[in-house]
Amino acid sequence: MKTIIEPFRIKSVEPIRMTTRDEREKYIKDAWYNLFALHSDDVLIDLLTDSGTSSMSARQWGAMMTGDESYAGSPSFYRFKSAVENLMPFKYLIPTHQGRAAESILFTVVAKESQSIPNNTHFDTTRANVEAQGAAAVDLVIEEGKHPELEHPFKGNMDIAALERFIEETGVENIPLCMLTVTNNSGGGQPVSMQNIRQTRAVCDRFGLPLFIDACRFAENAWFIKLREPGYSDKPVIEIVREMFSYADGCTMSAKKDGLANIGGWLAMNNEDWAVQCRNRLILTEGFSTYGGLSGRDLDAIAAGLEEVVDEDYLNYRIASTAYVARHISEAGVPIMKPAGGHAVYIDARSFLPHIPPLQYPGQSLAVELYLEGGIRGCEIGTAMFGLRPDGKEEPAHMDLVRLAIPRRMYTQAHMDYVVEVVTGVYRNRHKLKGMKFVRQPPALRHFTGRFGYVED
Ligand SMILES: *Cc1c(COP(=O)(O)O)cnc(C)c1O
Repeated sequence: MKTIIEPFRIKSVEPIRMTTRDEREKYIKDAWYNLFALHSDDVLIDLLTDSGTSSMSARQWGAMMTGDESYAGSPSFYRFKSAVENLMPFKYLIPTHQGRAAESILFTVVAKESQSIPNNTHFDTTRANVEAQGAAAVDLVIEEGKHPELEHPFKGNMDIAALERFIEETGVENIPLCMLTVTNNSGGGQPVSMQNIRQTRAVCDRFGLPLFIDACRFAENAWFIKLREPGYSDKPVIEIVREMFSYADGCTMSAKKDGLANIGGWLAMNNEDWAVQCRNRLILTEGFSTYGGLSGRDLDAIAAGLEEVVDEDYLNYRIASTAYVARHISEAGVPIMKPAGGHAVYIDARSFLPHIPPLQYPGQSLAVELYLEGGIRGCEIGTAMFGLRPDGKEEPAHMDLVRLAIPRRMYTQAHMDYVVEVVTGVYRNRHKLKGMKFVRQPPALRHFTGRFGYVED
């Protein structure tokens, strides 16, 4: 069959409140043109993030009713543990309330001041947690991964030669561990090949370094390996997942992504000494080691989600729907990052709006227009987010993108057709879009709370 259908039926629905362009003009003006300041029920299609926004299945909601809220040793924890170990057989498992808590605990224990952590690309919370220890977060993704227009099946791959060089120059004693992010979120949700994981492992072995995987989108990465890497097309996804983690000594995870849950995460590892220290830290900051900041019902939702996320019909639909949006807007001429990643489509706003200079935030202007035109909420990833330097000066970011992140199992193909129609409609009228400016900005993370206006107003 050519048509890929959503592999689920819907038995519980959340109404979308329809709005008119006039109404949206008022909402966005009241929000000072900052999409983070909108009330989410004034949004028609919310593509701000795929984190914690997944629809849970009837099975997950049922599992939540079996959640056991005992402080210590809850059966929910043991169900969670066996679901994780079924995919990632590490010796020690530490639940946390979300991914960044796992990162914070790990780096507090293993990273010392002036050490370095190599990674294909650090996600922003990972980088912040490394830097919070006074250590350096070093990104070593392959060259192809830095060019949005280039096609490559595994643009998230680690540059193996650069990694070797980096370890030799830095000295292993200054590197507590090496990380690999699958899929590479900050690089556009691009996958890492099994061969690259194996090669990264071989380099780590040669230098005696532990390898940790940032596992947030492990199932999407495994699906790309099945689709694109020679020798894997007949392998069940669950076996691909197990092979990926067989090369690692530990992982950090946000269950808000491929856990198909609305909250949660974990840290896992084989090193007993580190695990003991991490558990002590966990008890200080998150909670006892069998719940780690989560309720029993959250642990049960994750346990069920982990079984569903490796379902191949689900992954086929998931990756196809992202590719569907990317293909249709790209065919209409909209410049995007290629190929489409797993969880999001990235529009290249700088090419989309060549008449708006980077310091007038073309990504913000486009994101606002997508909201005005169709009630779609995306996220500027560009100069508004990254352009302010710690010394107060401003510089264009490396790229000006608008990310349309697709929540898991939430929207249907008709919703995606609507997204395509809105994006291509805005593209036809792109010359009418105007540059923007900050009318008020905080000194850090200005994209979350800053206020915008149009340059010409
Ligand atoms: C989301 C994410 C994190 C952080 O997880 P949270 O649950 O948001 O704290 C870390 N790494 C990657 C690659 C992510 O996508």
